[in-house]
Amino acid sequence: MSSTKPWLQSFAEREAVLLAPYAMFSVESTGRTHPESDHAYRGPFQRDRDRVLHSSAFRRLSGKMQVFTGDRGDYHRTRLTHTMEVSSVARTLARALRLNEDLIEAMALLHDIGHPPFGHAGEDALHDCLKDEGGFSHNQYALTVVEELEERYPDFPGLNLTAETLAGQRARANKIASRSVPLLETQTVDVADSITYNAHDIDDAVKLGIINVGQLSRVPLAGEALSVVQSRFTNLSAETLRATLVHQLIDMQVSAVVAYSGPILKDSPWQNHRDVVAAQFQLGMTPELSEQKCQLERYLYQHVYRHEQLLKMRRQGQDQSWELFDHFVQQPHLLPLRFAKRIAVVGLRRAVADYVAGMTDRFCRQQYELHCWNSGS
Ligand code: MG
Repeated sequence: MSSTKPWLQSFAEREAVLLAPYAMFSVESTGRTHPESDHAYRGPFQRDRDRVLHSSAFRRLSGKMQVFTGDRGDYHRTRLTHTMEVSSVARTLARALRLNEDLIEAMALLHDIGHPPFGHAGEDALHDCLKDEGGFSHNQYALTVVEELEERYPDFPGLNLTAETLAGQRARANKIASRSVPLLETQTVDVADSITYNAHDIDDAVKLGIINVGQLSRVPLAGEALSVVQSRFTNLSAETLRATLVHQLIDMQVSAVVAYSGPILKDSPWQNHRDVVAAQFQLGMTPELSEQKCQLERYLYQHVYRHEQLLKMRRQGQDQSWELFDHFVQQPHLLPLRFAKRIAVVGLRRAVADYVAGMTDRFCRQQYELHCWNSGS
């Protein structure tokens, strides 16, 4: 890989210096569905990241809820800010473990791009609507978005991402069915995702009064984080205590992954990314800490995600998704032209789901009020 100018360091030269042997190197990419020539100085995974960042589906993440809706003020995370936080944690892990940060960033920005409106409630509704057509999964829909629905380049449909970025998303979509472990870069995004949402869901839930720090401290991992914070600071305001607790939770877990997996990788005989995959190495933290993390997730499930206020919002989001879906199935002539054209390719019900899934929460609610509110349909 040569540079266009002698002073310009190529991405291959940069990676040769920065990455560990077990990382996924750009020069080893198996390329794109529609072949393209290399950019003069942006690596293939850097270009993937930029394509995801500039996609319209990515921008719409700002209007999609993570756990809490906009009815509850503006403090809490949206799907976009969650994605940026995942990217931040994943890039930290990438550098510490000397993995391919560009690939990790591309996959992190992509990982939730397929979320329909109203979070998992909307996903469950669309899955139910398509139960006879193979169901709906946001991870699978992300692939549809970047391979088919985004129209931004004259030479190809979708974003024409590299095989590695797509494989990372495919691994998410097939996680339960798959027996093989994916690239370390893919695993890093997965680990960063769960560390991030546990921490920020605690932050949002405490801020919104769904749970309090006292209750949370009875869960071992949160209790330990709180002890560390209280050993360093006294008389913190409730706001600062909450923020410091969340930072501590993230730092403890990210550091635990680096401390546990780093030495194994460093001392391993693995000379390339294929060796790591063949060895079925799973990135993570100690089994004890993993169990504590599971306890924290069970607590969040019971006390936050199943909270009556959220269940009510969830039912409302599901009902609106169902009704809007039925409305467009009954009146497909009201679909925007590009989704009407998809009926011939993927069938009516899938084409309608592809349209509804791309909506923001606000647009979905507007469409519901416009088409379904008084129609009784
Ligand atoms: Mg996520």
